[in-house]
Amino acid sequence: MEQRVFGGTGKQVPVLGQGTWQMEEDDREEAIRSLRAGLDLGLTQVDTAELYGHGRVEESIVSEAIAGRREGVFLVSKVMPSNATYAGTLTACERSLKRLRTDWLDCYLLHWPGSHPLAETVRAFEKLVADGKIRSWGVSNFAVSDLDELLTLTKPERIACNQVLYHLEERAIEHAVLPWCEEQGVAVVGYSPFGNGRFPKPQSPGGRVLEAIARAHDATARQVALQFLVRRPSLFAIPKASRVAHLRDNAAAVSLKLSSDELARIDAAFPKGAYSDELPVI
Ligand code: NAP
Repeated sequence: MEQRVFGGTGKQVPVLGQGTWQMEEDDREEAIRSLRAGLDLGLTQVDTAELYGHGRVEESIVSEAIAGRREGVFLVSKVMPSNATYAGTLTACERSLKRLRTDWLDCYLLHWPGSHPLAETVRAFEKLVADGKIRSWGVSNFAVSDLDELLTLTKPERIACNQVLYHLEERAIEHAVLPWCEEQGVAVVGYSPFGNGRFPKPQSPGGRVLEAIARAHDATARQVALQFLVRRPSLFAIPKASRVAHLRDNAAAVSLKLSSDELARIDAAFPKGAYSDELPVI
């Protein structure tokens, strides 16, 4: 599995990870099998959050999937903005650690910008790093104005990543967020790479382009999409697959190599759209 430097952490992290949102609605045993198969195939970034299933995803799915193999996992969780005061962040982290049955998180994110002072959240993140409870921290759903505010509170090398919505039909981050993160050395983790299940239909104009490129490589349209979404060294993607067959399909995307002509055809089929100050969220 191809690895890349994960922002300011300096750590090598696999370019494809695994999402866990809404997994509490899936077949639990199969979801756990899928996560473990993903770890076997090198998709070791596992993304979860206290929000997911109100803690159930951390507690009954992710904890089970990583049991006995914690060292080989790059575990990411997130604090809800409503909990992100100084004390609230510390206790939210403790709750996540307990549910996940681990002593540390590899990265802890603020799920989206909220109303509590960002300085408090950053101070709590740094306290958690100092205490060995988390190894790095980052943010999610941060627009450029939020990132600029963050930079008044910390050095760019302290910010591991910005996790943001990024799929073929939602490329807004490419206008300003992606360039900002690349300039500051912050990793960009694209979430919902398949549009949270709304992947372009094979008969749609964009879908036809993906299918044609996939056929030329004996690959699948989703593999083509994933490769496009990680085409820059700053980019990571965290598809969610609660079925082993889906997981295997996604993992195989890493061996696909797209030519510059193919990347240009995808770029033309799924235009970026106009710039807006608003960062789209799912
Ligand atoms: P997604 O990864 O865009 O799509 C997941 C859907 O695609 C599921 O229905 C899954 O089915 C299906 N799928 C996956 N691989 C497939 C394949 N090879 N063939 C056919 N279908 C396939 O959706 P997402 O869950 O919204 O995003 C991924 C992760 O990003 C989340 O799980 C979460 O960890 C993170 N996220 C973060 C935020 C944030 O605010 N920071 C927001 C949203 C998501 P099965 O599950 O049945 O296999």
